[in-house]
This record gives sequence, structure tokens and C-alpha cells, in this order.
Amino acid sequence: ASQQLSKSETIKLRNKHIGQACQLFYRSDPLKIVRGQGQYMFDEEGTRYLDCINNVAHVGHCHPEVVRAGALQMATISTNNRFLHDELVQCAQTLTSKMPAPLSVCFFVNSGSEANDLALRLARNYTKRQDVITLDHAYHGHLQSVMEISPYKFNQPGGEQKVDYVHVAPCPDSYGGQYTDKQFPDADLGLLYAQPVADICERQLAKGQGVAAFIAESLQSCGGQILPPAGYFQRVYEAVHRAGGLCIADEVQVGFGRVGSHYWAFETQHVVPDIVCVAKPMGNGHPVGAVVTTPAIAQAFHATGVAYFNTYGGNPVSCAIANAVMRVIEQEGLQQNAQRLGEYLLRECGQLKQEFDCVGDVRGLGLFVGIELVSDRDERVPDTAAARWVVNRMKQLHQVLVSSDGPNDNVIKLKPPMCFSLENADEFLLAFRECLATLTCDHLQQARVAVADAATNGVIATAADTLANKTKLFERQDRLIKSV
Ligand code: PMP
Repeated sequence: ASQQLSKSETIKLRNKHIGQACQLFYRSDPLKIVRGQGQYMFDEEGTRYLDCINNVAHVGHCHPEVVRAGALQMATISTNNRFLHDELVQCAQTLTSKMPAPLSVCFFVNSGSEANDLALRLARNYTKRQDVITLDHAYHGHLQSVMEISPYKFNQPGGEQKVDYVHVAPCPDSYGGQYTDKQFPDADLGLLYAQPVADICERQLAKGQGVAAFIAESLQSCGGQILPPAGYFQRVYEAVHRAGGLCIADEVQVGFGRVGSHYWAFETQHVVPDIVCVAKPMGNGHPVGAVVTTPAIAQAFHATGVAYFNTYGGNPVSCAIANAVMRVIEQEGLQQNAQRLGEYLLRECGQLKQEFDCVGDVRGLGLFVGIELVSDRDERVPDTAAARWVVNRMKQLHQVLVSSDGPNDNVIKLKPPMCFSLENADEFLLAFRECLATLTCDHLQQARVAVADAATNGVIATAADTLANKTKLFERQDRLIKSV
């Protein structure tokens, strides 16, 4: 084995030899993780962290059955998929058995980016069109082709320019997006958000071009844990199909039972995609992904006469691992666990929303939860600084790892390994409550100073009232903190 380095030596070597564009979590004090087990990770000093970040370690870090399946296959044979192998065909059989009937043909790849890249090729080939509709804030991978459909990246200050054949529709975020449930309490938000996609389709048809594909995460993770309004995908899919395009569901983050009620997140929207892309959880940390599609789309790809070859995609080790992951999900009832715990987390986080004004919204499905922090609940003003502070405090003080995301980076994200337990949920909730209470306290202290300043500056009457109100609140929060 390699020699164990001190943490500072690891940092020094990393700074020297690893591209600076590869960013670390917790940049000011990065974690050196040396071991993982289930829903826990351990640093070089043996400190245990509760992992609420790693949706890749889907069935738990280093799950013994997955490790055994991979090690055994690695010790037996690993070669490319130009040789017959049972693990490959059985993996395809199990994967497609979880999908609606027309989705019965697989292509195996090594990552989510590769899956989405191949999905675009399949769609462009099948439709003989080029234009793609994507959602604002979406991320679909790091390859050139999928960076083009990832506003999450190309909308950043130093990002590349959007290309003409990519069309960006609004992210269907009914809390903080273009159409909100506050602004349009009685409207059909699914319809409102589908309209811009339909408009793009109409414009493309009028130009005589149509579209090749619409691609979206079934629940947008990088956009800030977004649950699209009911009926959204149904209407979007109709419009895209009318324009001759295919619908691609990116299930790279949200697939394999995470949403609890279903195996795939697209099922919650009652649609059947033409192409589904899967990766991350499929290998529990091992790089494997797949594109699942219909026989007609696969046949059109074959008819080009250009063979598809991917050196590692579908190798026996990757497939043995993916088969073990799918087995463990069933054997351990992890989808049901996600549903049960998701309901618990949503209920308890909803309670925190009642108690703390800085919690603007709580949303999620299964073990895919987002908690949006705001500085003004009525105006829904995102509180980016608060989210960063909470993420760091959760790690430093409580050894609980959570991340933040969304266009304003103010959404606390939970997507833990699916073996997350009730005790883990309580550990998270207790720590999170402490952070919110302290945060509120700090904010109120700042408010007291501001109000006191205003009082000295002559705005006495209103300032005195505000101070009295804030003081009452402050005392209530103080009691709360002491009770934690
Ligand atoms: N799609 C989505 C929704 C993702 O979240 C990611 C990775 N974060 C990708 C695609 C790309 O996957 P990979 O990093 O495995 O290439």
C-alpha cells in the first residue's frame, strides 16, 4: 500500500499536482477521509462524520456485498463487452425490468456525463435534428457536449457561451423561480412552466427545424432540490414530441429508489421518457452508468453502420457491482426506507420552519430533501451567507456533512446513503436545530445593534417598538437554544 501521508503533506502534494479547478469541499479546512462504512465517513484521526452528501454511496459506503461482488469478479475476469458475459446481460435485464415496457435496450458507459453524451447522440441520430432544450440551472456533466446543455456551468462568469442550438427554458421552481405559488396562488404552475418549452418548440417548428431532444433531471438537484409542479413533465413531453423531439430523463442523481415512492423519479410525474440516463448510485462509488432506450431508437443508431464501442462500459466488474447494488436495494428494503425517512425528515423540517423564520421552504421526496434558507421569509430573499455558515458549522461542531446548492447557493441539500436510519435523521435534526437557533440569535443581535443605532439617530418611536418585539423574539430563541 502507499505510504500514509500527514494531512498537510497531502494538501501540499495536491496543490502541486492536481489542477486547481478541481475544488474541494470545505476549502478553508478540507476533510481527509480515509475510510467509509454505511452512512459514515472517517477522517485520518478516526473522527466519524454522518454523511448526508453522498448519494453515490447509495447502499452505504463499502457495502460488503457490493465489495465482495466487485472483488470476486476482478479476481475472475474483467474484459470488454465484445465477449459474452452473464453479468452484462443480467444487469441489463434487471435494469430494464425496473423501467416502463418500451425502455428495454441498454448501452453501458462509465459516468453520468458519458450517459448524457450518448443520449444526445441517440436523439440527434433518431430525429435527424440538432436542437436541444434544457432547463435553467441544469447540470448534465463535464464533457464538451453536455457542458453545452448545462447552464449551471455556462452561466457562470467565466463559463463558455451558450451555443445557438441549445435553448434554455425556466427551471420549474415554484418557490423561487419565474412563477411562484405566492405570486400565482391559484394558477396551474405546471402549465405556466411548460409554456416556455412549448413556445421554443413552436418557434423551432416555424423555422422548419423542430427539436432533437428535451433533457431534464426528473427532480432538479443542481438547481436546488426542485420538485416540478404537477403536470409539468406531461405537458412538456407532449410539446417536445409534437416538435419531433425525444425526451431524456437524467436520473443520474435521483434514480434507484431515492424518491421512495418509486424506483425512478420520472415515475412521480407520470411520464415515460424516450431515453433514461443512470449512473452515480448504480455503482455505489464504482464508475458505471447506462443509457436505457427503446428498440426503435437503438435500431436507428445501429442502422448508421457505425459500431458503438466503449472500452470499459459494461465490463464484467462494473456489471457485477451494479447487479449487487440493485440486489441490496431490494434485499434491504432501501426504497421503502427512503420513503419512511423522507416523510419523517420532511415533517420534522416542516416543524423547524414553524419555529425559525430563516427557513423559507422545505421540500423533497424520499431521501432527496432541500431546505431553503432566507433572510426575509415574506419576500423569499435567499440567504447565501447563512447556508454557507450552516454547512460549515454542521461539519465543524456536529460532524454532519451537508451541502448547499441552488442558483443562490442557499438550499441545504440532503441526499444521504439510503441506509440512513431514524437515529441518523434525529442526529441531523438536532444539529441543524442548534445551527438555526444560533444563526437566529446572531441575526437578532445584529438587529438589536441596528435598531439601537436607529434609536440614537432619532427614529425613536418606531425603533423602540421594533426593539421591544425583537427582544421578545430573542428571549424566546435563547430559551430554545438552552433547551437543545
Ligand atoms: N447529471 C447529473 C444530474 C449530475 O448530477 C451529474 C454529476 N453531478 C452528471 C450528470 C455527470 O455525472 P458524472 O460526474 O458521473 O460524469
